[in-house]
Amino acid sequence: YKAIALSSASWEAWYDEHGWLLWTNDMVKEITGYDVDETFEINDIMKHIVIPRYKCNITKRFVNELSKDECGKEEFKINHKISGEKWVLLSWRPVYDENQIFKGIRTSVIDISDQKKAEFAARDLASQLRREKEIAEKNSLTDSMTGLSNRRYLEDRICYEYSRMKRCNIELSIIMIDVDFFKQYNDTFGHLEGDECLKIISKLLKKSVKRGTDLVARYGGEEFVILLPDTSKRAAFKIANKLKNNIESLEIPNPLSEVSDFVTVSIGVATFNNKTNLPPNHLLSEVDKALYFAKGSGRNIVINA
Ligand code: GH3
Ligand code: MG
Ligand code: MG
Repeated sequence: YKAIALSSASWEAWYDEHGWLLWTNDMVKEITGYDVDETFEINDIMKHIVIPRYKCNITKRFVNELSKDECGKEEFKINHKISGEKWVLLSWRPVYDENQIFKGIRTSVIDISDQKKAEFAARDLASQLRREKEIAEKNSLTDSMTGLSNRRYLEDRICYEYSRMKRCNIELSIIMIDVDFFKQYNDTFGHLEGDECLKIISKLLKKSVKRGTDLVARYGGEEFVILLPDTSKRAAFKIANKLKNNIESLEIPNPLSEVSDFVTVSIGVATFNNKTNLPPNHLLSEVDKALYFAKGSGRNIVINA
């Protein structure tokens, strides 16, 4: 063992059953900055060099427990006598005499500072990328799953269309769509299939509206909102009914639905004009009330506010 340990690139040492140093190779100098003689003078070299905040780990696992049956490994920082803090990896294993009596431990320590540096850099980069992605998503105007406008953009557009409605004395219709028994759909086919279903519905909604000023948005989970500027109550109701029928005609199976064999939607519609007293951020709750009635009347139905 000593022959190997002497020529080793790691700092090899033996400690007796009380934790006192018995032997060390020269690499102690490289790893800790202390030469062999100094190391023996200090004796509890390991406790001496470990940086305080890592001490409890090391003391518990390596010094106090002097694990008789277990090999162990621990990464921590030490204070090099000359060059300051560095990361090391300490591995240890128990030693027994011929009668299987515990005789202490052998340790091996290597410098892992470069490795740690790379690890931290990678971690920093990953969290930086995650932060940037979050910001980009927040700033973006589209829902990444369906490609429709997102709620943020919808709310901006409602304000814009609200003032255009007042100024130009035109009507503004809003449609809110909620998939029926969609929880059951997910339960039957799984969440990924659920996503696919929402994408299909999104596509249908998108191609159902014709005017440049119409806007289809994903409001949340399985809810969609369509803005129809300059559209009367009657026209909006007609469009909503067509959407409802077209969605059921897709014949996407939803065996646990209580209203159909297929995926259906409930729809609330509300139409506003320049007599509307509500502030723009209250329009959606009006539409939501109609949708709520649609759900209450059994679903798979369009209700006008
Ligand atoms: P209701 O007829 O009353 O609308 O019943 P529901 O099950 O559709 O409504 P509920 O609000 O109880 O549940 C909505 C479900 O929609 C639960 C949720 O997991 C699912 N959901 C929401 N967003 C997504 C999504 O992006 N993908 C998938 N797969 N499921 C979603
Ligand atoms: Mg819902
Ligand atoms: Mg629903």
